[in-house]
Amino acid sequence: MAEAADLHDWVARDRRCVIHPYAAPISTAPLFAVERAQGVHLVLGDGRELIDGMSSWWAAIHGYNHPVLNEALRAQISKMSHVMFGGLTHEPAVRLCETLVQITPEPLTRVFLSDSGSVAVEVAIKLALQYFRAQKRPEKRRLLTALGGYHGDTFATMAVCDPDNGMHAVFRGVLTEQLFADLPAPVFGAQWSSASIDSMARMLEQHAHELAAVIIEPIVQGAGGMRFYHAEYLRQLRALCDKHDVLLILDEIATGFGRSGALFGGQHAGITPDIMCVGKALTGGVMSLAATLCSERVAELISRAEPGVFMHGPTFMANPLACAVALASVELLIASPWQQRIAAIEAQLRDELARCSSLPGVTDVRVLGAIGVVELAQPVDMARVQPALVEQGVWLRPFGKLVYTMPPYIIQATQLSRVTSAIFNVLAG
Ligand code: PMP
Repeated sequence: MAEAADLHDWVARDRRCVIHPYAAPISTAPLFAVERAQGVHLVLGDGRELIDGMSSWWAAIHGYNHPVLNEALRAQISKMSHVMFGGLTHEPAVRLCETLVQITPEPLTRVFLSDSGSVAVEVAIKLALQYFRAQKRPEKRRLLTALGGYHGDTFATMAVCDPDNGMHAVFRGVLTEQLFADLPAPVFGAQWSSASIDSMARMLEQHAHELAAVIIEPIVQGAGGMRFYHAEYLRQLRALCDKHDVLLILDEIATGFGRSGALFGGQHAGITPDIMCVGKALTGGVMSLAATLCSERVAELISRAEPGVFMHGPTFMANPLACAVALASVELLIASPWQQRIAAIEAQLRDELARCSSLPGVTDVRVLGAIGVVELAQPVDMARVQPALVEQGVWLRPFGKLVYTMPPYIIQATQLSRVTSAIFNVLAG
């Protein structure tokens, strides 16, 4: 039981029983209690206001406590907050799926809703496996990906994360051994060099007979290293997958809904995947929801063959509240001048982060869309850097050797300057 003196000391009470993401179960790492959030601000328990540079891990693209999203929730909660999805359907799910089909590349016609990004990727993998099983080709059951990727924290998804940088090296020996090609290259916008696809092409050639799918994050590799790679790589990968009869899964969970400057990352290359995952910003960061889309052909083959059903069905699938707020978020985004906003954030990040290149220990500064990254030679000392960033009045969450920002799209120029200055000041300090 909490002592009366620390009844409202949420950090002290947290430390006694709560486990945080990628943290020691018993931890003394810096921790801050948030009382509320409004627009681009997080308001801490002690009254300090931080400018949010993280969008709560890519999700809160419209900022917090948005009246349109709140209203969508209120309207839905008065009708029904949840109902099972087996044998039942409802307006928020149907309208959301119709909208997703409409705004994603044309061949994607069918949508499976789930509760998190990791599960959406699991669903994508299962679709690919059932697609080949439906064709009586169960030997096509392996996955190929590129180094540097990140696809989630569940067991099938961990097996396609970067084996070293993907945070899951501790599970080596337990994970299914999947196949890895070299890091995708060259960087976005650089001169294309045809050798960049060689490793991926070779792996596809050698393993096509046992491969169900290639899975990759389009253009932006997120939590596996925050790298931006060339659009031609994706174009050639699409052609190679077609040539070798291997499905292409694009994991748009981080890139989806405008973050990289295109509505979906694959659009930088003008390609369409067979299967695509979205999550994170799908609900504007308000609730947990993800979706896996597939082509009519994938859906058709699975439906026609034994057992004639797709083998997945989470309890909270298509939660009406989550669907309602997702629909409101997508409509809000599409109706907004998101391209101009992201272009403006991109230009400002380029301009203002450039000076970080001259700091000792900085190895690279890169920007794409509303994503700015400063890479260091050594891992960030979080015990020093996290509180120092808070002192500067911003919320950022560096990991490994990376200090990075992907702010809400509604951030104002003066607020974004506070974020970039904080990065510079803390790294210089
Ligand atoms: N894929 C990508 C590209 C991601 O960035 C993430 C989350 N960092 C996931 C999958 C997993 O999503 P979730 O955390 O919602 O399970």
